[in-house]
Amino acid sequence: MARHADMGSEAAALDVLKDLQSGKMNLGDILGPLYPAHDVASPDIRIPPGNKKEARVAPSCAVGPDDAANRRLVSSVGPHGTRQNPQPADEPYDILVIGAGVAGLLSSIMSKALGKRVCMVERHYMGGDCLNIGCFPSKCLIACARRAHEVATAAEYGVNVPGGVTIDFGKIMERMRILRSNIGTSHDSVERYCRDFCEDIMLGDAEFIDQHTALVRSPESGDRTIRFKKAMIGTGASAAVVPVLANVPHLTNNNFFNLTELPPSMVLIGAGPIGIEMAQTMSRLGSKVTILEMAPQLLPREDPDAAKALHDALKEEPNLTIHFSAKIAAVDYVGGEVRTCAPWGQYTVRGTLKDGSAMAIPAAAILNATGRVPNVWGLGLDKIGVEYDNRRGVHVDDYFQTSVPHIYATGDVASPFKFTHAADWQARIAIRNMFLGDRSRSQQLLTPWCTYTEPEIAHVGLYEREMAEKGMEFETYVRHFKDVDRCQAEGTLRGFCKLSCAKGTDRIVGATIVGPHAGDLISEITVCMTAGVGLSRLAGIQHPYPTTAEVIRQCAAIYWQQGKLRNPARNAALKMLGDGRAKLHGSKM
Ligand SMILES: Cc1cc2nc3c(=O)[nH]c(=O)nc-3n(C[C@H](O)[C@H](O)[C@H](O)COP(=O)(O)OP(=O)(O)OC[C@H]3O[C@@H](n4cnc5c(N)ncnc54)[C@H](O)[C@@H]3O)c2cc1C
Repeated sequence: MARHADMGSEAAALDVLKDLQSGKMNLGDILGPLYPAHDVASPDIRIPPGNKKEARVAPSCAVGPDDAANRRLVSSVGPHGTRQNPQPADEPYDILVIGAGVAGLLSSIMSKALGKRVCMVERHYMGGDCLNIGCFPSKCLIACARRAHEVATAAEYGVNVPGGVTIDFGKIMERMRILRSNIGTSHDSVERYCRDFCEDIMLGDAEFIDQHTALVRSPESGDRTIRFKKAMIGTGASAAVVPVLANVPHLTNNNFFNLTELPPSMVLIGAGPIGIEMAQTMSRLGSKVTILEMAPQLLPREDPDAAKALHDALKEEPNLTIHFSAKIAAVDYVGGEVRTCAPWGQYTVRGTLKDGSAMAIPAAAILNATGRVPNVWGLGLDKIGVEYDNRRGVHVDDYFQTSVPHIYATGDVASPFKFTHAADWQARIAIRNMFLGDRSRSQQLLTPWCTYTEPEIAHVGLYEREMAEKGMEFETYVRHFKDVDRCQAEGTLRGFCKLSCAKGTDRIVGATIVGPHAGDLISEITVCMTAGVGLSRLAGIQHPYPTTAEVIRQCAAIYWQQGKLRNPARNAALKMLGDGRAKLHGSKM
């Protein structure tokens, strides 16, 4: 701790430095802690190595239609046509940030907080996938689909809606576009980042020329040569295109959010989290959706009980069919109107189903959600010796450092944890490592996640399967939503909270929640794991009655109920107290 009265003096700063160097203090005490205080881990997601062959990805496209909301969005986050890139500074920037998705934005914010001069480059829209074609627009649609489902099932609650649900898909999409442009304008705009965080922002395609120089190409502004001391690659990932769709116009997350009319039927290829979220949403909005998945089950990496609960729920969706182990041989496209960058027309998807029978599924639209490919091409990585491949993306060590020590990479381009919050945390620690010589490790981060289907599936820490593979002894406690009063009242009869602890302890090492608001509820467990709050303490924390979150407390309370805090000596001592044979002095129970 600094020992000088004048906290602004150099002597006081030297004291802080000494404390940092001796380990009495750490950077988290000054910049905010990012790591759990206790030894907990996220799953070890290993992506098999790929090669340098360029993968086929969906082309990026402009947001559409050309309405007021989209014009406002584009003028904030990607005013390519109306803004000239500035002339770069003569002196090298402290950091060049490539990509203005979450990884890039947070890299800029953190660098600025450390007094660094930042040049950020974006080739499309600031805010990246999350704002424009990912998390945010998808959650807007999910919100509308949930309402539609609630009204459609309201009669079960004695609430009759004469005439039932009618969907104004155009309005649903317009609502999303307005909300998206609000966020783009207030949070992620070029103007805001120029003003608050970056010395300069260049709109265009960045490519490394050498280890300290990059070229930004822009049709409007021409080329700009940027010199830099350090660099962050935050170029994200793109939708993979399966070979059968190579020459067939189709939807991916790039153009899906441009739809203005509901396709009456859809085939969705790929039952990963992104695919299922959209499949359930579109089916609830009235499209007849068929999911074709080549794997034999849903979400193979998820907790199997969670995946089963979701599968059971999806089977009840009237407009949704899922085929596992489906093999697609060809997609016939007989054309149709291409609508605002979102093609739909007349398709027939041909191949074989699990039982070997032939399939020929007609659809008005195809949504391809077969995975994400890291954006590693066109960056000049070979030229400067940054290692990468087409599956794992840019190779980084545990500190987010690439094979070129002053160049780092974070977010979807370099991490198997392809989530917005993961990109955010990675960028924060990478910048600390880059400029402050910190050695914060990616493996120490505790990253929760959620699939926003109904029911939601949220997870943090290790899966039981992994614990078993690691030879860890563990115990798992499960509480079902149907046994929680509030869930009964709400009609939530599916889902559970599952907490796993190291055997013989109440230390939580993994948790899965399936049910309404699971993505919100999981944060309670993440806090407990981060702060080292075990089941016993968690069970003793009052939760308001009746709430859904009681499922967590009740799950933790199983630890008490199973007598894990008790042993013969403790029982005997309690009996002595109860019989009045002993007295307690000052004990807080
Ligand atoms: C449909 C969908 C729904 C999702 N939902 C969720 C969710 O609910 N929750 C969640 O946590 N995650 C979700 N994700 C994932 C989340 O969007 C990503 O993990 C997150 O956006 C990654 O951020 P990033 O900064 O690494 O990459 P990106 O957001 O992809 O940003 C990278 C940026 O780099 C730019 N760029 C690329 N190459 C260059 C170049 N050469 N020069 C200049 N700029 C370049 C790109 O244009 C892009 O803007 C979803 C993804 C999708 C597709």
